[in-house]
Amino acid sequence: MKKLLLVSLLLQAAYFAAPLQAEDNVSYSQLLAQLSVPAADIAPEPSYSKSTLPGADEGRYWVTVLAADKHARTRLLEAGMDIVEISKDRVSGFAGPYTMAQLSSKAFTLVSKVPASALAGGYNKDFPSADSAYHNYKETTDLLNSLAAKNSDIASVFSIGKTTEGRDIWCLRINSSAKGTAPSSKPGAFFLGNIHAREHLANEVPLLLAAWLMDHRNDADVKKYISTLDIYIVPMGNPDGVEYDVKSGSYQYYRKNMSVNSDKSRGVDLNRNFDSWWCESGASTYPNSDTYCGPKAFSEPESQAIKRFFEARRNIKTHISYHSYASEILYPWGGNEADVPNAKDKQAFVKIAGEMAKLTGYESLKSSDMYIATGDSCDWAYAATGVLAFTFELEGRGFYPGAAIINGAADRNIKAAVYLLSVTDNPYKNI
Ligand SMILES: [Zn+2]
Repeated sequence: MKKLLLVSLLLQAAYFAAPLQAEDNVSYSQLLAQLSVPAADIAPEPSYSKSTLPGADEGRYWVTVLAADKHARTRLLEAGMDIVEISKDRVSGFAGPYTMAQLSSKAFTLVSKVPASALAGGYNKDFPSADSAYHNYKETTDLLNSLAAKNSDIASVFSIGKTTEGRDIWCLRINSSAKGTAPSSKPGAFFLGNIHAREHLANEVPLLLAAWLMDHRNDADVKKYISTLDIYIVPMGNPDGVEYDVKSGSYQYYRKNMSVNSDKSRGVDLNRNFDSWWCESGASTYPNSDTYCGPKAFSEPESQAIKRFFEARRNIKTHISYHSYASEILYPWGGNEADVPNAKDKQAFVKIAGEMAKLTGYESLKSSDMYIATGDSCDWAYAATGVLAFTFELEGRGFYPGAAIINGAADRNIKAAVYLLSVTDNPYKNI
């Protein structure tokens, strides 16, 4: 939660009683101003415990237990309880099988228990405090809605579908003549982020792109793109996984969505679930693995939503799917060692990826030159709809590079995204 922003909003509401003022706080520059950590302090990846990897929810409960004072709380800690919340006469937190056995004794009064796997974000936890500049699902949703409210002549928000756990996957649309899901014949660009849960920078970059475009809507070039293009930004494509990754207040290294598999393990790798050489290589049929391709192509509501989104908008010409981390810009194929068969498309892929590489300092290459991975969203999008689709592996050391990295990463990647907008009317014009 951005406490400074919240305080500022409350003060404005109190002193000016003018709700529209509050929306002035969502500008790109103000968002960046909240990221007060100097860039030199970018942290190396911390050595988090891996004991909480997916599957660790087995036998774990969120419990509330009576505890009148610190002595009672201490005894609960000694019984192995992970105390998260403390109120006057009780505490709530996690309990594994050993602790659950202890809690059943007469020494404790168990008020309630909910399987940890069923919580689905039902308790209000967030990013670790050092990373509070990152936007969780609610903050992302609120920011998209604020941007659209402040720029209602050109921006709108709609859901492209529901997740496994029933969350909406929100899209900000920027179009001067069409709102929501209304069709448009203008050339389209689609920016998608964070379909892998732990890659949180991949939410920040497209989210800040949205804020930047609204901030700069009167710049000559941006103004032209807004009036001539159909721009879609879905910063958080896997909100269930993102919430799972942060909800305990410490990172879970979680990659997949939150489907319950046949063996009761959690999650399908959404970027192995698309129908592009589905599950042939670089993917796993073992449900508990991080690269599980799912029981069939498009088995997951999140990948289905992205599929429907593309298929309903054949005006979309260019696409970026943001991931982290490798500092690379990848183009098809990812699931096959061959080049794309269309020579003109190949030229455009190489040219556009190369230009965006110059702007970001990343390396551009054919995706399968890194490794072969089938079921990838960009391979499918290009094969199925002809969109020039790029996978960005953003910068950083590790999945949790700290908040200080956001500013520079957003800055560089906004330049690349604006370049993509400049060729969206005709991606072949510079080849
Ligand atoms: Zn990824």
